[in-house]
Amino acid sequence: MSTAAIAHNLQRVRQRIAVAAQAAGRDPATVTLLAVSKTFGAEAVLAAAAAGQRDFGENYAQEGIVKMAQVREAAPALALRWHFIGPIQSNKTRPIAEHYDAVQSVDRLKIAQRLAEQRPAHLPPLDVLVQINVSGEASKSGVPPAEAEALARAVAALPGLRLRGLMAIPAPTDDDQLARQPFAQMRALFDRLRAAGLPLDILSMGMSGDIEAAVAEGATMLRVGTAIFGARRAPPVPGEEHQP
Ligand SMILES: *Cc1c(COP(=O)(O)O)cnc(C)c1O
Repeated sequence: MSTAAIAHNLQRVRQRIAVAAQAAGRDPATVTLLAVSKTFGAEAVLAAAAAGQRDFGENYAQEGIVKMAQVREAAPALALRWHFIGPIQSNKTRPIAEHYDAVQSVDRLKIAQRLAEQRPAHLPPLDVLVQINVSGEASKSGVPPAEAEALARAVAALPGLRLRGLMAIPAPTDDDQLARQPFAQMRALFDRLRAAGLPLDILSMGMSGDIEAAVAEGATMLRVGTAIFGARRAPPVPGEEHQP
C-alpha cells in the first residue's frame, strides 16, 4: 500500500474515532490510536509515522524487533513507541523486555516476573497491560476477569514494570448490540480496579471492525491494523502463529 493510501486510511480512522467520541460525549484526545503493523514492513511504519502516527503494535517479537531496527536506521530522530500485543511464551520474554516500550498481553504472573527480571536497568520501566479473557473463550489468552485484580496487584509490585491498564480481544460478533457487551464489561472492570486503588490509565480495546463500539464504551486505546494498512498476508516468520 502506498504512503498516500496509508495517510488517507489513518485520516479516516481518526475521523471515525472523532465521530464516535463526539457521539459519546468524549474528548477524542482521550483516545490513543495504536497502529498494528504486524506482517507489514518498515516502509509501512515509516509511511504512518510521516502522517503523524507514533504508537505501533506488533504480535511477533522478532518481527517487531527487526522492524524497529530498520525504522531507526531510516529515521534515527523519529521517536516511536512499540507495544507488544501478541501471545507470550514464557521462554520468549527476554527480547520483549529488552526492546519494547509496552506489553499489552501479560496474562500470568510468571510472565510478569520474567519481564521484570529481564528489563534492562538503563531503560525506563516497561509499561504493562493485563490481558483479560473477557469472552471466556477456552482457547484465548487472557486472565479470567475474576483473577484480574490479583494479577494487576502483583504486576504493580514488581520492579522494572509499570502497570498501566487492561487489554481485551472480545470474541467477534456480527451483532452490533452484542458487540458492545464485552466492552462494557471491560469498562466496569477497569473502573472497579481503579476504585480499588490500582493506578490504571489505559483501557485497550477495539480493532478495525469495532472502533465505534469500543469508543462508546470507554476505550482509551484502540488497536487498529487492517483499516490503516490493508489486509494482512501470511506471517513472515515461520513457526510464529497468527492471532486472531
Ligand atoms: C491483529 C490485532 C489487532 C488489529 O486487528 P485489525 O482487525 O486488523 O484492526 C488488534 N489487536 C490485536 C491483539 C491483534 O492481534
